[in-house]
Amino acid sequence: MAKIAVIGTGYVGSVSGACLADFGHNVICVDNNPEKIESLKKGIIPIFEPGLDTVVERNSRCGRLSFTGDLAFALNESNVVFIAVGTPPADDGGADLVYVETAARQIGALIDKYTVVVDKSTVPIGTGKKVTLWISEELAKRGKQIEFDVVSNPEFLREGSAVYDFTHPDRVVIGSGSKRAREIMKDVYRSLYLNDTPYIETNLESAEMIKYASNAFLAVKITFINEIANLCEKTGADVRDVAKAMGKDGRIGSKFLHPGPGYGGSCFPKDTRALAKTGRDNNEILNIVETTIETNEKQKIRAAKNIENVMEKLDGKTLAMLGLAFKPNTDDMRESPAISICEYLISRGAKMRLYDPAAMKEALWRLTSMKDSVYFAADEYDAMKGADALIIATEWNQFRNIDLIKVKQLITSPMFFDLRNIYKPQEVTSAGLQYFGIGSK
Ligand code: NAD
Repeated sequence: MAKIAVIGTGYVGSVSGACLADFGHNVICVDNNPEKIESLKKGIIPIFEPGLDTVVERNSRCGRLSFTGDLAFALNESNVVFIAVGTPPADDGGADLVYVETAARQIGALIDKYTVVVDKSTVPIGTGKKVTLWISEELAKRGKQIEFDVVSNPEFLREGSAVYDFTHPDRVVIGSGSKRAREIMKDVYRSLYLNDTPYIETNLESAEMIKYASNAFLAVKITFINEIANLCEKTGADVRDVAKAMGKDGRIGSKFLHPGPGYGGSCFPKDTRALAKTGRDNNEILNIVETTIETNEKQKIRAAKNIENVMEKLDGKTLAMLGLAFKPNTDDMRESPAISICEYLISRGAKMRLYDPAAMKEALWRLTSMKDSVYFAADEYDAMKGADALIIATEWNQFRNIDLIKVKQLITSPMFFDLRNIYKPQEVTSAGLQYFGIGSK
């Protein structure tokens, strides 16, 4: 059993901490946001993540999981510390490492025994070495010679299914040059290691690169099918059939072959930009990644422009939009395509009636700049009341079974924009609505 501290209780830290406790370890989660810690202590999860409350409750009750703002206490109790703080985009496109550096320096200022420092945040290649340097500098300031090792252990969980993903990963990646640290990490992931989960040991830089290369590859795949969908619209092909048939090819696979209004979220946009910057910094331009970033931005606006083209004039029109989170089953709106689409439509004179099953609280502050043009609805049908058209921006399950007859009654002109292709055109048109999906004429 390892004794673990986790720094950062956001989407990754809270899930990692709770699931590591579920693996049988003693885990103390630390955050410098006192409201988050107070909430977690009461068993109230500050984010929307299905199933996380149960794991937190189960492990808190039996004393394996606790929450604190006191990092010194947490480090004193632990021999492994995970850094799971944010790495938001910096102005130059790279990852802003200010939170990682602060956490690393705090560790250097506080540890008093051998500690394995595990970088779980997504960080540019070379950050592991910087973390080693920052910790060493703080130890030197204290005149202490305490051994530590830095490990890169990138996280691949998806918001919305994070608990399942953490406990059933496709692979665990451990990057470290230290045999001692690698043995300890095997203990940390013992439950998975014994279960035949692919367990990949490599050096620090490769582990850091694996995370970026994986995310960039998925972003490329989404962008590829989006471009094919756009071409389908011009040529008479139907992207639903094209993607389905492509996905049946075992070499291609069906996942991430769903066209839409571009990818968003807290990972793909910032990770592709950070990887592209690493390429530029090393004089190795990653052309495919650079193009993907540019094409994805165009795709978001293309979706909004298509709506404008169909509606001819947006000035004075009201549009209902369902789905604000960047994907279903999360309240995360970071870089959500819904925001770009709203911005564009409002800039052209439209008013918006918005609804999301989990992200309304997020939307309230993220869309403050548009507040004069936005109505926050109580549910999907409230959003549609008196609207000229309906847009489905995020494919929440509850939007897959909308009462189409009611939609026809509520919206004044019968335009139904399905940006996620979750409806069959015919079922929508047979309710008397005009259907506009992605990737077909
Ligand atoms: P987040 O912003 O939700 O959470 C970060 C947390 O760290 C916040 O609660 C913040 O208060 C806390 N924090 C920052 N500095 C701290 C410090 N010095 N001491 C204590 N607490 C501190 O971020 P996230 O979405 O959980 O992402 C964390 C990292 O994991 C990022 O690098 C991200 O790219 C990566 N990642 C995220 C996902 C995802 O789906 N969100 C998936 C895989 C990897």
